[in-house]
Amino acid sequence: MSAAMNAADVAAQRLAAVRTALAEREVAALLVTRPANVRWLSGFTAPEDARVLVTADDAWLFTDGRYTAQAAETSVLPAVIDRSWRTEVAARLPSGALAVEAEHLTLAGAAALAKATDREPVRTDGLIAHLRRRKDATEIDAIRRAAELTDRAYAHVLTHLAPGVREVDLALEIERFVRSEGGDGMAFDVIVASGVRSAMPHGVASPKVVEAGDLVTFDLGARVDGYCADMTRTVGVGDVAPAHRALFGAVLEAQEAAVAAVAPGATAHEVDAVARTVLARHGQGDAFVHSLGHGVGLEIHEGPGLAPRADDVLEPGMVVTVEPGAYHPGDAGVRIEDLVVVTDAGAEVLSRSPKGWTTVPDAAA
Ligand code: ZN
Ligand code: ZN
Repeated sequence: MSAAMNAADVAAQRLAAVRTALAEREVAALLVTRPANVRWLSGFTAPEDARVLVTADDAWLFTDGRYTAQAAETSVLPAVIDRSWRTEVAARLPSGALAVEAEHLTLAGAAALAKATDREPVRTDGLIAHLRRRKDATEIDAIRRAAELTDRAYAHVLTHLAPGVREVDLALEIERFVRSEGGDGMAFDVIVASGVRSAMPHGVASPKVVEAGDLVTFDLGARVDGYCADMTRTVGVGDVAPAHRALFGAVLEAQEAAVAAVAPGATAHEVDAVARTVLARHGQGDAFVHSLGHGVGLEIHEGPGLAPRADDVLEPGMVVTVEPGAYHPGDAGVRIEDLVVVTDAGAEVLSRSPKGWTTVPDAAA
């Protein structure tokens, strides 16, 4: 797809893909309620308060009066503004089966829909999520800008990293920078995990003070035009224990080997195994306690997953993270993560921040 395609062309192409999937399932309409899918189809920037109905010939966005102006400004689909959206959906349904997104609709929501439409909804599972795995040029452009802003936020926070600074204040520096530089906000809660907390893969920034000798893991991602970035770097503060430095070296070697294995045609579990094999050779196999990576787009975690039992085959346009880690509870941990787009020829790494061994001085020079 050309980068010059306009929003209407992009929307038409996405609707066509959904309609093909609906025809295969012999359903007449799909009610889309998962926010990322609502945004992907409509462009509407408050998808948590909206739904989309797709039929063979039409598509509408349903939201309420708080969003009249916002819908007019951002939705490429005609907007129906009414609090009684289920009644409006019912009025537009063709005859035939109505499909819903089982992974998002609650039992209560399904019951209310059945009552309003007088038909029993048919479940679909991951129908649009599957289509979203391959990004088009407009999406890759947004993810590229999110990754670039993430790189700049990381360079910014390093200028604040020193012994005596609290993790939470470093996280706030990142968030402030991203918002002030035009990002929508963060794609997820910033992780700043120092010292023994670096052994926590999801160590969201705490009031802990960074100390000399700590490893510090930053895991951050800006959101731009709705699209997420995701990057992790681990750095040392002052003199770091040789064992921790060695742990870093093992994770970096695993990460670089796995990035090199990302290519169209590669199977997800094969790429995961590349990192796992390197870490096992360094005696760190048991310390790598999570999967290698995940898809990134409108959601921070989407398909395809790079995991030991994942059979997905990588295709051009998929955007995935490569993020091996090694964690020793009570001691320290390291993770290094890049955002990577699969291309026709191989892969392009969107995260540009330096990832080699780096220390910040433990005292002002
Ligand atoms: Zn991350
Ligand atoms: Zn990640």
